[in-house]
Amino acid sequence: MSHRTVMTPESGVDATEDQMARPPRPVLALDIGGTKLAVAVVTEDGSTHAFAVEPTRRDEGPDVILRRLFDMGHRAIDAAGLGPVAAVGISCGGPLDARAGVLVAPLHLPGWIDIPIVAQTAAEFGVPAALENDASAAALGEYRYGIAQGAETALYLTISTGIGGGAVLGGTLHRGAAGNGGEYGHIMVRPGGRLCLCGRHGCLEGYASGTSIAQRAREAVAESDAATTLTGIAPLAAEDVARAAAAGDALASAVWTETTDLLAQALTDLVNVFEPDIVVIGGGVSRSGEQLLGPVREAVLRDAMPPAARAVRIEAAGLGDEVGVIGAAAVAFDLVKEKADV
Ligand SMILES: [Zn+2]
Repeated sequence: MSHRTVMTPESGVDATEDQMARPPRPVLALDIGGTKLAVAVVTEDGSTHAFAVEPTRRDEGPDVILRRLFDMGHRAIDAAGLGPVAAVGISCGGPLDARAGVLVAPLHLPGWIDIPIVAQTAAEFGVPAALENDASAAALGEYRYGIAQGAETALYLTISTGIGGGAVLGGTLHRGAAGNGGEYGHIMVRPGGRLCLCGRHGCLEGYASGTSIAQRAREAVAESDAATTLTGIAPLAAEDVARAAAAGDALASAVWTETTDLLAQALTDLVNVFEPDIVVIGGGVSRSGEQLLGPVREAVLRDAMPPAARAVRIEAAGLGDEVGVIGAAAVAFDLVKEKADV
């Protein structure tokens, strides 16, 4: 967990100096997850203030949840004590239409159909608002404030329940036509393989997401006669597989190795296509650290085209639990800049 606070700029500065030295107004960041809502006021240096998290309680439906989210936002603005915000950034899972500012039908929020969230947020707070796919926002957050600072081309993968991604190319967030680009989870790694939620067979997500790692391990336990420490763990999670593999359990190691092999296979393609300076891996599964990154790095270095393989760093995400709000804030600051440039 990161601790990001800065001094407030108000005190002890006379009016003239204040006008000259006044930093840009902060923004409000809203992160809408399937299990958690997070808000923070964020200043231009990426420092978060009044960071707050609440359970989403999905069964309450969009009206009640958005009212609660907006109330959290107002409380954060009051608690931060930095004055009015310049804009609001919203990070949410897709499918969404970032340009239209509409949540089309987010997979993690059943029943949220065609919610005009940008218009609602702008009306609520009286300032411009912007929406971004959560993985794209996280990519921008890591690029501007996290481990990808200074990179020219940065890719971001989040590996948790599913697999999402985003790309910053030449310093600019790649959005795609509607803001849903970067679906690295649906790169095919096993033609004809496991059925993916998207309807195809053999996507990376069907093997290397936290959900799929656990599912493959459960199937392996059911099919194998060999002794394994995974027997009897219920519900079996990806972190149990990682822990058992690290302790030398043969069945867990086989599942884990297949995971890192297939992740490396997809990353090798991405590295060949984009020749990035850095690939950042975030999400819950990335907490296994070097156990995940080590073999992936080795395979990409071996298999990618040599110039691309030599150029790329593969690193764990740097922003931790605040990546959602920091990414949303980066999107909001881009909006403020865009408006100022017009
Ligand atoms: Zn798929």
